[in-house]
Amino acid sequence: MRGGQVYEPDRIRAERSVRTSRVPTRPAPAPRPIIVDASAALAGLGLGAVLAAVILGESRGSLAAPGGLISAAGRLAGFTGTYLMLIMVVLIARLPWLESSVGQDRLVRWHRQLAPWAIGLITAHVVLITVGYARASNTGVPRELWVLLTSYRDMLAATVGFGLLIMAGISSYRHVRRRLQYETWWVIHLYLYLGLAMAFGHQIFTGIPFIGHPLVRALWIVIWAATAGMVVVFRVAQPVWRSLRHRLQVVEVRQEAPGVVSVVCRGRHLDRLAVSGGQFFHWHFLTRGMWWQGHPYSMSALPRPPYIRVTIKGLGDQSRAAATLRPGTWVAIEGPYGTFTDHARLREGVALFAAGVGITPVRALLEDLPAGVDVVVVVRASTPADLVHRDEVATLVRQRRGRLQEIVGSRHKVRLNARTVRSLVPDIAYRDVYICGPEGFSAEIAAAARHLGTDAEQIHTETFGF
Ligand SMILES: Cc1cc2nc3c(=O)[nH]c(=O)nc-3n(C[C@H](O)[C@H](O)[C@H](O)COP(=O)(O)OP(=O)(O)OC[C@H]3O[C@@H](n4cnc5c(N)ncnc54)[C@H](O)[C@@H]3O)c2cc1C
Repeated sequence: MRGGQVYEPDRIRAERSVRTSRVPTRPAPAPRPIIVDASAALAGLGLGAVLAAVILGESRGSLAAPGGLISAAGRLAGFTGTYLMLIMVVLIARLPWLESSVGQDRLVRWHRQLAPWAIGLITAHVVLITVGYARASNTGVPRELWVLLTSYRDMLAATVGFGLLIMAGISSYRHVRRRLQYETWWVIHLYLYLGLAMAFGHQIFTGIPFIGHPLVRALWIVIWAATAGMVVVFRVAQPVWRSLRHRLQVVEVRQEAPGVVSVVCRGRHLDRLAVSGGQFFHWHFLTRGMWWQGHPYSMSALPRPPYIRVTIKGLGDQSRAAATLRPGTWVAIEGPYGTFTDHARLREGVALFAAGVGITPVRALLEDLPAGVDVVVVVRASTPADLVHRDEVATLVRQRRGRLQEIVGSRHKVRLNARTVRSLVPDIAYRDVYICGPEGFSAEIAAAARHLGTDAEQIHTETFGF
């Protein structure tokens, strides 16, 4: 079905029609669960090696000395916490093989679940080492803290790093996070990389497990270097390279619905961009106020080389500013990411549910599903005017001889509970169910599908929230 409906405006369509009449884009690589399993095994082995190195680095004498056990526990907590911190960095380093198999939302969830453990262990390290050393030198904790800060190499930098870690932890705590602007939270998180780097020196120069064990020190350096390398390659170099290669520029911004605009960009070599319908990029519109922020937006159609399109609902300052973008604006992209694609499909039939601007990945996925797939599409909006890309969706469904259900009305009046879902898609248990919309909508449809006998692995959601 790749090569379905053309979405460009007449001016662009006329220009495009003389270039090509098909869509020569490449699908994103299929997920490779074996690589995920291998990565998990490697991470587990690394943790085992770190624990073993720290435990074997302790001597009977040092453990028996005053404060020895407490300090040893502190070292174990410090190295384990730091290792978990590095795993957290890897999880959000946008590694393509993890992104395409696990999905960014799940990777971010794992990152968040690890965070309290990593921060807790590193905090325990600070407390236990200070108390243990104070016992060893028979001084008070405040005095020992001062000694540690002033006489141990790189300890001051590590303390600043610890402060940045705590700041990032607090800013991510749900109640605080909700009160912060996304950008503020993001900048605080960027400082975390600095904090981590600042803590590295004190580990290398004062870490007991490294004394007399150059191999252990080398292993630790390799773990750090590999983590930093992945961040530099996949979060910086690859997006820069991809953006330079495709050189996207806005060619048109047009209104689709109240508060919703499509941004059509033109670029080079889009036929070589491996991307599947349902995926998203982080978009940096290179204008004065927007260049430094990447916002995730799903493609609202498959690329039509040399064009690619996103459709954006103005919810905050940056998404609203999309309506003011001028033709000629340069655009940098990171991605593609996401597993809301045909690769996830297990059955021959699908039910696609979309609410509001959640239609964007669904519209692109609809275009990307193989021709034989039996399709039911359910679109929800408050008013008919809010049915974004209504005609395009209708045409694509008609081309596939599928079924389209539009549910229009306030969400308080029109509820999508199990009874309604059964009346819309009676055979939902035999289909893959793709859902994109607000969290409440996704949860409601997923619960209804489960209630009606759909297996959990047949349900795929894309959440626009953060
Ligand atoms: C995978 C994915 C795909 C998306 N696709 C689309 C799409 O096709 N069309 C569309 O209109 N919207 C889409 N969104 C939502 C869109 O990213 C946000 O509406 C936009 O980033 C809001 O930014 P803002 O500065 O205008 O608003 P803010 O007021 O800063 O934020 C509004 C909401 O968006 C969240 N948000 C802001 N920036 C980001 C970010 N960089 N990453 C994650 N969440 C963020 C905030 O936490 C908040 O919940 C998608 C989101 C995700 C996660």
